[in-house]
Amino acid sequence: MLLIGSHVGFNKKEQLLGSLKEALSYGANTFMFYTGAPQNTVRNKLENFLTEEAKKLMEQEKIDYTKVIVHAPYIINLANDQDPDKFTFAVNFLKGELERCEQLGIKSIVLHPGSHVGCGVERGIANIIKGLNMILGQTNVTILLETMAGKGTEIGSKLEEIKEIIDGVLDKKHIGVCIDTCHLSDAGYDIENFSGFLDEFDKIIGIDKIGCVHVNDSKNPVGSHKDRHENIGFGTIGFNTLINIIYNEKLEDVPKILETPYVERQYAPYKYEIEMIRNKTFDEKLLEKIKSQI
Ligand code: FE
Ligand code: FE
Ligand code: ZN
Repeated sequence: MLLIGSHVGFNKKEQLLGSLKEALSYGANTFMFYTGAPQNTVRNKLENFLTEEAKKLMEQEKIDYTKVIVHAPYIINLANDQDPDKFTFAVNFLKGELERCEQLGIKSIVLHPGSHVGCGVERGIANIIKGLNMILGQTNVTILLETMAGKGTEIGSKLEEIKEIIDGVLDKKHIGVCIDTCHLSDAGYDIENFSGFLDEFDKIIGIDKIGCVHVNDSKNPVGSHKDRHENIGFGTIGFNTLINIIYNEKLEDVPKILETPYVERQYAPYKYEIEMIRNKTFDEKLLEKIKSQI
C-alpha cells in the first residue's frame, strides 16, 4: 500500500494530535513533523495525554505509527567543531530530540548530516561520526541521514559521503538514510532512470537502509546545488519521474513525504498533490485549483 503524506505542523496546544489531524485533512496515511519550529531549538513539554489521544485516532484511521517521521531542526550542525560549545550544544540538543521521539513513540528522525563551513569534507565527516556515536545506542530511535543538494559546504550530496558516515557509526541498527528527490537531482544524480539510481545506491549503501523518501520537484536543473523545492510536476524533475519513484515496488513500505512549497506562500498544496499522486495523472491546472478552492 502506498504510504503518502507531507510535513505538517506541531503546535504547543494540540501537539501530535494536531499534526495527525492536519495529515488526515490532506488525505494522507503518514506524515512528518518537527517537534517545534524547524529553524530554532525552542521545545515545549510534551503532553502524554495528547500523544495517547493521537495514538487512538491513528488506530481508528489505520495509520501505521511506526512509519511516522520526525525531522530534526535544520540549524543542528554536527559537521563543524571549530566552536566546541556549538558542537556540544548540537549533540545535546539532538540527544534531547531522540528522547522526545522516544517519548512520542516515534521510530525515525531525519537529520541533515551538516555543513563543514570551511573545516573540509573529511574533518566534517569525522565530526558527524563523532557526534552520532555520542548519541546513538541510548534510545530505540533511528537517525535517517538525508541526502543533500550540496548547497554551500553541505556534506551528504554524494552517496559515498553518506556511506562513509554510516561506516563510522558504531550502532549500525539505528542509522539509515532519507532520500530527497529534489536534493538528489540538484546534487547531480540522474533520477529519471530511478532503477539505475537504486542499483547504484544498493551497491554503495544498501537499499534496506532507506527509511524515508522526501518527494519534491525542483526549481533548478540537475546538478545545480540550489535546494529549492517545487510543487509536484511543476519543476525540472517532472510528474512522470516522481510517480515512477513513488510507486517503485522496492520502496513500497517506505513512507513518501511531500515538502513542496505552499502556493503563493499561503495555501497548503498537500491535499491536492496527494490526490494527484493517487490518480497518477498530472493536472496542469492544479496550482490555480489550489488558490481558488481554499
Ligand atoms: Fe530535510
Ligand atoms: Fe527533504
Ligand atoms: Zn530541501
